[in-house]
Order: sequence, then C-alpha cells, then structure tokens
Amino acid sequence: MHQILDFIRSRQRFAITSHERPDGDSIGSELALALALKQLGKTARVFNADPTPEAFQWIPGADDIRIRNRLEGDWEAVVILECSSFERTGIENLSDFFTINIDHHPSCPDYADLNWTDPSVAAVGLLVQQLIERLGVTLSAEIASALYVTVLTDTGSFQHSNTAADTFLSAAGLVRQGANPADIARRVYQSEPLIKLRLLRRALGTLQLHSGGRIASICLSRHDMEETGCRNEHTEGLVHYPLSLRGVEAAAFLRQTPNGYQRISLRSKGNCDVGMVARRLGGGGHLNAAGLTLETGRDEAWSIILQALEEALGNPSAARQDSSSDDLQS
Ligand code: 5GP
Ligand code: MN
Repeated sequence: MHQILDFIRSRQRFAITSHERPDGDSIGSELALALALKQLGKTARVFNADPTPEAFQWIPGADDIRIRNRLEGDWEAVVILECSSFERTGIENLSDFFTINIDHHPSCPDYADLNWTDPSVAAVGLLVQQLIERLGVTLSAEIASALYVTVLTDTGSFQHSNTAADTFLSAAGLVRQGANPADIARRVYQSEPLIKLRLLRRALGTLQLHSGGRIASICLSRHDMEETGCRNEHTEGLVHYPLSLRGVEAAAFLRQTPNGYQRISLRSKGNCDVGMVARRLGGGGHLNAAGLTLETGRDEAWSIILQALEEALGNPSAARQDSSSDDLQS
C-alpha cells in the first residue's frame, strides 16, 4: 500500500477500471477513487467494458464513465479494482500500461506492477476508503455515498458472512460523512423496472430442489431475456431467491448468454465454499458468492455444477443417490 500511495502522490494522470459487467463494488469504488484523485488536482477517468447498471447511475461521476474494450490515452497508470486478472476487465491492452491492482478476492495473484490485495475487507470500496484517507482527501458526502454502495452491495445489505465489526465501523464512518442509508437503499434496491419482476416470475417458474433440498437452482434462457426485454443487469440478485429457502445451503442461477454459453452465479450459506467450486471450473469469487462461465449447453453445465456443489457440501455419495431433481409442485 505504501508503494501505491507514493506512486499516486507523484503522478498526475490515472485511468481506473474494474471487471466486466460491473457491480456496486466496482462502480462505487471506481467513482470514489476518481472523485478523490480529482480533489487532489489529478486527472482521473473511469473506463469499463460494460455499461453502468441503472441502480448505480445516480452515483456522482457515473455519467462520465467511458465504455471501452481498448484503452487509449497517455495514462501514467491504470488502477484495476476488483479483478483477479487483466482478462477479467474485458479491456484488452491494459498490460501495455503501468498497472495497480487493488482487490479483496482470496488468491488474487500479483499480476500488476503494484499489487494490494486484502481479503479481510468486505468490499474493495473499503480499501479505496483507506487509500483515500491516507492520501489526505476529505471524505465528501459524494465520496462517502459511493463507498457506502460498495459495502452495502458486497455484503448483501450486511447479511453475508463477510460482514464483520469493522465493516459496520467503516459504514458508520461513511454515514457520518454524509452517506444516507435509507436514500441509497431506495436507489439501489427499491427502484426496479417492471421488466425485472417479469423476469423474476420466469426464473421462479424454473425453481428446482436437489440433494434432498440442500441445493436449489433457477435458470433463464436467451428467449426469457429477449421476450422480457431484460439485460444482464436485470438478473442481479435473482440467485438470492433460491438461496432464501429454508434448508437450502447452496444456490445456482444459470443464464444462457447470447452466444449460447452458460453464465453461472453461485451463492451459499455457512461453510459451503462456492468460491472454490467456481475457481476449480475457471471462475472465481468468495466463500459464499462466486461466478463462472461454462462454454457448454445448459444440461451439461448443470450436471457439472450440481456434482461440484454436492462435493462442496461434503457428502457427495449420499447426495448423488438422491440427485434426481425434486420438482417443486406445491
Ligand atoms: P455474480 O454471481 O454476482 O456474477 O458474482 C459473484 C462474485 O463472484 C463476484 O463478486 C466476483 O467476486 C465473483 N465472480 C463472478 N464471476 C466471476 C468470473 O467469471 N471470474 C472470477 N474470477 N470471479 C467471478
Ligand atoms: Mn467486491
């Protein structure tokens, strides 16, 4: 972190990016850092491979985010937030620049020129908060609000196992600086378009239980997305519905991508490590929240995922005898 601080203090022009299909932690961290660097009189611009989800478009500076798959410009450094590799940014030429990697995923490799990873924090936004404070930036209400979004969304509204005493202390500091929890919750969670609930109806229509009710799944096809007029961002949070069932320890949401592959979101309760499941299959994530893409059809993807989840639940043989899916008819 000291090297990163020294580097930032002595340079002027920064590009900032995060992973493709950015989430609340990506957008909030990027915009907070951009605002802070500007407060120090530096040039900072955010570049993402995919557009900002509607739920985060109100964050100050969101209008200035550029959508690019290639970075142009004479940037002295690119700050990469929340990514375990260059590829995960969806921007192809980042290794041509001096890069700074700031992440909170377990086992993030040191792929950049400067690296700071700390899996103990709930959101990358909390690392950005530390960085900003050390740089002597005043935590304005705008910056505090952007950072509050990162911790709110990455903890699943303070519900996930990454929520610790320090998480509340950091959040309390942000609220003291002007972040308004009720207002931000309304903007992030209570401003959904009707098409999202139509998509939810379809997704819930596919709900299945497996392994004696310990695993639940939902899925959506390309047609579901097209017919409801939904985009990727509208699938955000759907995986929490199967997880919300009593007795379910792991939940999977499979979505067919436009090129026919399967994009999979995994969530779990307790010790079932879906991060490990995702990493083994080429994706990544945390203990209780992870994701991956499988370049297969749905049935093949599901049999791979179900077997891996059963193993992660620690009782593969018992689970497999019972792996015929229980349809939910009641
Ligand atoms: P989601 O299900 O919301 O897409 O992803 C949940 C979490 O899993 C993300 O916050 C991220 O940490 C991780 N994740 C999801 N997809 C991928 C992926 O394709 N690669 C990696 N490395 N991590 C992923
Ligand atoms: Mn995060």
